[in-house]
Amino acid sequence: MIMENKVYEEILRLRELLSYHSRKYYIEDSPEISDAEYDKLFYALVALEEAHPEYYDANSPTVRVGGKASEKFEKITHTVPLKSLTDVFSYEELEKWLSKLEAEYGSLTYSVECKIDGLSAALHYENGALVYGATRGDGTVGENVTPNIRTIRSIPLTVPYQGTLEVRGEIYMPREAFEALNAEREKNEETLFANPRNAAAGSLRQLDSKVTASRKLDIFVFNLQVCDREFSSHSETFAFMKEQGFHVIPFQTVCRSYQEIIEVIETIGKRRPTLPFDIDGVVIKADDLAKRLEIGEATNTPKWAVAYKFPPEQKETLLRDIAIQVGRTGVLTPIAELEPVRIAGSLVSRATLHNIDFIREKDIRIGDTVVIQKAGDIIPEIVEAKKEKRQTELPEFYMPTVCPSCGENVYRDEEAAVRCTNAACPAQLMQNLVHFASKDAMDIAGLGPAVLKLLKDNGIIKTVSDIYRIVPEELVDLDRMGKKSAENLVKAIAVSKDRGLARLLYALGIRQIGSVAAESLAAHYHDIEDFFTVTVEDLVKIDDIGLITAENVVHYFSHESTRRIIDELKALGVKTTAEQEVKVGSRFEGMTFVLTGTLPTMTRSEAEALIKKYGGKTSSSVSKKTSVVLAGEEAGSKLTKARDLGVRVIDEAEFLAMLQ
Ligand SMILES: [Zn+2]
Repeated sequence: MIMENKVYEEILRLRELLSYHSRKYYIEDSPEISDAEYDKLFYALVALEEAHPEYYDANSPTVRVGGKASEKFEKITHTVPLKSLTDVFSYEELEKWLSKLEAEYGSLTYSVECKIDGLSAALHYENGALVYGATRGDGTVGENVTPNIRTIRSIPLTVPYQGTLEVRGEIYMPREAFEALNAEREKNEETLFANPRNAAAGSLRQLDSKVTASRKLDIFVFNLQVCDREFSSHSETFAFMKEQGFHVIPFQTVCRSYQEIIEVIETIGKRRPTLPFDIDGVVIKADDLAKRLEIGEATNTPKWAVAYKFPPEQKETLLRDIAIQVGRTGVLTPIAELEPVRIAGSLVSRATLHNIDFIREKDIRIGDTVVIQKAGDIIPEIVEAKKEKRQTELPEFYMPTVCPSCGENVYRDEEAAVRCTNAACPAQLMQNLVHFASKDAMDIAGLGPAVLKLLKDNGIIKTVSDIYRIVPEELVDLDRMGKKSAENLVKAIAVSKDRGLARLLYALGIRQIGSVAAESLAAHYHDIEDFFTVTVEDLVKIDDIGLITAENVVHYFSHESTRRIIDELKALGVKTTAEQEVKVGSRFEGMTFVLTGTLPTMTRSEAEALIKKYGGKTSSSVSKKTSVVLAGEEAGSKLTKARDLGVRVIDEAEFLAMLQ
């Protein structure tokens, strides 16, 4: 027993030592030992804890490396709502707010702080230990992300204060970590995060906290939400939060006049480009807590604070060329290729020009000097072309008439977009494949985005019809695919051949053809061959088919590549005719059902199929004409509306009972 106690003592000693050094490192920025020494202590503790699970403690520093995946996040109702702030975009607006406030409440002192561009979270402590951490959510209810919060090293897992304590902070990803993460993702051909805030949000909401742990998130705490102790001012709570070991927001300054506030804003603005984290403004709050109560709060925002948003930084540069990018949905987007220029902390060499209307409206031409800024300080955009700087006459830009990815003719749709509708366009292949195999389309189990990417990258799939040419032998050599799963996949593919016309029409991914429209089409024309000859006039006579949808169908079937793909699918045994109308009963004759929420055992399309089989109809919105609302879990506004209108609401069990 004595031995055992020695072990426990050692564990406690190491935990305390590591907490001390990580505080020195992450909070005070003055490490006393090297990283290697820290790691040595750290792994000594890991080894002891693994050998003695009976001494597990959720607040041990080792827990910061992350644990096993959770299923989903549970909801947490915030003790104090995490409200948002009213924005002001100019000094004039700021002064107006200030003078109105002071006219009513007399002169005030203000706490001025930078506004970190991250995501808000609440950290709740009891008896000196972190109990939970939650995302802001809608401000009232957030998500419990405690295991992920624990991996953020600057968040103290224990605090000296023993009472109830809740703080609010902004979780962010430092710029350096963001750039390293995106560089890594680029190398692995993964989609890039648009900005540090998106990256932070994506990282905090990981089901596997090991992923979060690897993302180097950080936090700045800026508000004391709940505490049993009394304070008279906000800045006093800052001192207290610092004592508790929190990383508080930098540049917090107490100001006594409009002039002082402007000085702080200017100082922060000048420092902004070189800060290691993104800020998008400066927050000005009444400092006196008693005054705050007097001033009060609106529903979503306090009246005692505003956020001053920085105007976007602008720079001039040369438009060298306009490139055309074919997106995954077939839209051709003109992209400005710019002489690289540094703006708001990053090097910009490309910016979207959206569409040809945008280019015409601003009269942008290749060779122009253009003004660029970062919208929301993230996405670079072209503000204007400096026409007066043109040395010579520059030609107007025209969109190409053929798709740069496949060479087929493109067309301009009802919006300003120019599209390639070639069913076999390589730029759209991945998206088409994923849609084709998805649950409501051909429903091929095991053929999700990851497997499809693997098949595409290995040259096994080049068109949608290639799916039906796959043989098990081709699959077993691929990473991650065993013999058993290869066989199962090929079986699932074979089964999908018989889904019928409606599913196939939907699976082809024709623009604006959702499941409902596909079913209407299949109910009228029982063979896919009919669509090669049908006219827009014929199609608009069908329920659910509008003019634009009809045009899209006719356009899609006019492509040579569509003819080729349909012939291939037929030759491979895919059913291209409609399922026989199998009406097995008429008990739902004349009834309209609306489905909402998630049913416990059935999918929505299964329930819809049953309703139709028994002669009923489904609709997507609740009205007085609705006969029954079939509601599952997390049913939203439709359920409320049904109750308001007195429409009968049933659950899945009652629905099944109706079929008995
Ligand atoms: Zn194309």
